Amino acid sequence: MPKLDLFQFINSQENYNKVFKAEDLTRIPQINSKNQHVNLELLGELQEKNKTKIRLLHLKINGEINLVCHRCNTALHHKIDIQNTVDVFPNQQILDAAPIEEEYYDTIIGSDNFDIQELLEEEILLSLPAFPTHKICPSHEYTAKEDKPKSPFAVLEILKQKKEN
Ligand SMILES: [Zn+2]
Repeated sequence: MPKLDLFQFINSQENYNKVFKAEDLTRIPQINSKNQHVNLELLGELQEKNKTKIRLLHLKINGEINLVCHRCNTALHHKIDIQNTVDVFPNQQILDAAPIEEEYYDTIIGSDNFDIQELLEEEILLSLPAFPTHKICPSHEYTAKEDKPKSPFAVLEILKQKKEN
């Protein structure tokens, strides 16, 4: 799993780009995700406000995965397009002591051995619908056609024929 010295990364305002195989993102509920990929772009930014260092991590996540439809349990194609910025704190104590206005962004605790994939999975999980479903499930589309109600004119025609008989 890719690890990063997040403080070093932000201090030097580096950028990072990595393509993950969707099937390797094991915390995300997926089905048939072979050949699908998720691209992660990270950009570190160091700001200084009132002599306090503000460490920002900009994330851009693009890709596609197959979720599991909650109605029919088959694959549901899902595009991922996330842009977010997180405020990186050195530890929980400093985070807890930070004034509220600095918590404008989502906050995370950084580390010199930071797990990039965990952050990626977290961001994707937060973006997913709670109950993903197809607009029209593949199996329901079929039954919908079969059960299509007859037009009122067709019904009238049948009634007429019955009368005549
Ligand atoms: Zn479905």
